[in-house]
Amino acid sequence: MSADQVDTVVIGAGVVGLAVARALALQGHEVMVLEAAETFGTQTSARNSEVIHAGIYYPAESLKSRLCVQGKQMLYGYCAERGIAHRRCGKLIVATSAGQVDELLAIQQRAAANGVDDLQRLTREQAQALEPALECHAALLSPSTGIVDSHGLMLSLLGDLEHAGGLLAVNSKVKSLAALDGQAHDAIKIEVSANGEDTTLAARQVVNAAGLHAPALAVCTQGLDARHVPRAHCAKGSYFTLSGRAPFGRLVYPVPEPGGLGVHLTLDLGGQAKFGPDVQWVDSPDNLQVDAARGDAFYAQVRRYWPELRDGALQPGYAGIRPKISGPGEAAADFVVQGPREHGVRGLVNLFGIESPGLTSCLAVAEEVAVRLD
Ligand SMILES: Cc1cc2nc3c(=O)[nH]c(=O)nc-3n(C[C@H](O)[C@H](O)[C@H](O)COP(=O)(O)OP(=O)(O)OC[C@H]3O[C@@H](n4cnc5c(N)ncnc54)[C@H](O)[C@@H]3O)c2cc1C
Repeated sequence: MSADQVDTVVIGAGVVGLAVARALALQGHEVMVLEAAETFGTQTSARNSEVIHAGIYYPAESLKSRLCVQGKQMLYGYCAERGIAHRRCGKLIVATSAGQVDELLAIQQRAAANGVDDLQRLTREQAQALEPALECHAALLSPSTGIVDSHGLMLSLLGDLEHAGGLLAVNSKVKSLAALDGQAHDAIKIEVSANGEDTTLAARQVVNAAGLHAPALAVCTQGLDARHVPRAHCAKGSYFTLSGRAPFGRLVYPVPEPGGLGVHLTLDLGGQAKFGPDVQWVDSPDNLQVDAARGDAFYAQVRRYWPELRDGALQPGYAGIRPKISGPGEAAADFVVQGPREHGVRGLVNLFGIESPGLTSCLAVAEEVAVRLD
């Protein structure tokens, strides 16, 4: 690989960028990943629930639905093959009022339309037989939902990339791209600030997997028509951790709320329980402090399904920002995997709005990107 001419550049070393880079390297491409931070996986990929989603909620035929269901299967297979810590612990979606019981039915039907036909309807008593601490009117059990060590996953993806001859360059922030006339061209110019020094690369193929910053970077792409770039919105999600023993062995979710999946209980692989994420629209992707005052609202929401939650048991945890491309009050947008066929720039794929279930879907998103580049 010469210093200034690379076959394929992937911008961003989150779980999606690393999965894409790995897939392209395994296809035989020379791949360089450019990452602005000091190391890989420090942004959204390090600030999520680490849940392997089943693919329940998304509109049928959407990319979220297809890539989640496909990605889940690929991810379980990959984790088993590589010894990446994960657990198929299952999840309960709970109706916390009589009025929500019908919503469970609608969720089950939507899941079935997505090919997720293993959801089981449980009465209150059946749910409590599984999870004695749970309070609910009825529940759905999703046996294929699980949890994964996201850092272990990224480490493995990076290992595969490097084994296939790929390279990760950290402290390398991409400032702009130039696709020249936006039509036929052999290379995309990439302006990079590497360890504080400006340098230029040229690549035949570029994948913009910059997460929260992907739309801003696309705006700085000469030759790309701005009408292809969606507006970025940041929806912060804060978590509160539970001191003491986890009361449940499975994940517990209320029925979804606008902008997110509701304040749910997730477990990490060490058995520690956390609640969240809530939804707070913010102006900046850097707004990552957890406001302790938001915990007050958590108590009320969690007690709907776990009345025994003690006062003072929740501690501020961490926060992540959902890289949304739909704003407050708007219908949730689908993943956008935008290739030459959509925007007309040969060799360029932009990834926009890769929020949840992006971790679950990463291996399937990578395959989708490879198809778009072909
Ligand atoms: C609160 C929350 C909970 C979630 N829970 C789940 C879940 O349980 N299950 C699930 O499947 N998904 C979940 N997700 C979604 C999942 O975390 C994301 O879809 C996934 O991490 C996105 O990965 P990424 O690689 O696209 O982005 P990121 O991890 O953000 O990576 C982007 C990378 O690009 C780099 N970068 C940015 N700009 C530049 C530049 N100009 N030059 C070079 N590098 C740049 C950044 O430094 C960063 O490392 C959740 C998300 C949030 C916010």
